[in-house]
Amino acid sequence: MKEKITLQGMLYDSKSSYLRGPALAPPLIRKAYRSDSANYFAENGMELRPEIFNDLGDFEIKDYFDIEKITTQNLHKESPLITLGGDHSITFPILKALNEVHGLVQILHIDAHGDLYQNFEGDPYSHACPFARIMENKLATRLVQLGIRTLSSHQREQAKKFNVEIIEMKDYTETKLPHFEKPIYLSLDIDALDPAFAPGVSHYEPGGFSTRQVLDIIQHIKAPIIGADIVEYNPTRDINDMTAMVSAKILKEIVAKILENNETIN
Ligand code: MN
Ligand code: MN
Repeated sequence: MKEKITLQGMLYDSKSSYLRGPALAPPLIRKAYRSDSANYFAENGMELRPEIFNDLGDFEIKDYFDIEKITTQNLHKESPLITLGGDHSITFPILKALNEVHGLVQILHIDAHGDLYQNFEGDPYSHACPFARIMENKLATRLVQLGIRTLSSHQREQAKKFNVEIIEMKDYTETKLPHFEKPIYLSLDIDALDPAFAPGVSHYEPGGFSTRQVLDIIQHIKAPIIGADIVEYNPTRDINDMTAMVSAKILKEIVAKILENNETIN
């Protein structure tokens, strides 16, 4: 019997610095997941019908600090948790909730941006800051970032201060993929992909991953995955629901990977 995956959606984009829209994403990723244009088989052969999820639905967030409270209510030690965002600010409160249940984790963060600002336009909880907050609050023993192609001098200093392992996009090859020995949390910002593959994002940062490269990265993960998020899909910028389908495909492959890796452990 496969374990169920807890699924929650955060309808929240108030910490976005440039455009709003990611709050609309969670129901559209679910809809794309169920689209008749595709089937439910992951590439590893597992059939992952929507019933695989313990789907708790979408949460309308008024107050940023409610994200942690809601995640705490939704989180159970035995069940991996996937969150659909929302902008990237949600990852810090999710990690806080996760830390109470799972202790320290290692994080694989895939993004065009480091999201390491000490504060952004005066807001320490901006979507440009979550990984500074996570490291400052010592919620992770290790942070590995992939896809990064926008580092400012300030963010380079922050990365140094927090011992962040960054494989910048310009240096990326599959052979450099990190090896994790401990359970990981996977945080995927859709703008890590090249806008050619995923146009539905607020910040177009050309020169990114192909969809295939992101799927390969996920499929190469050897460690158990206790939680993941898919953030920053902005439907107002999408073309023909293309990015919704990309997000849904990535969701399916993350679930397949969770089931594959967590089963080997048990
Ligand atoms: Mn981000
Ligand atoms: Mn980003």
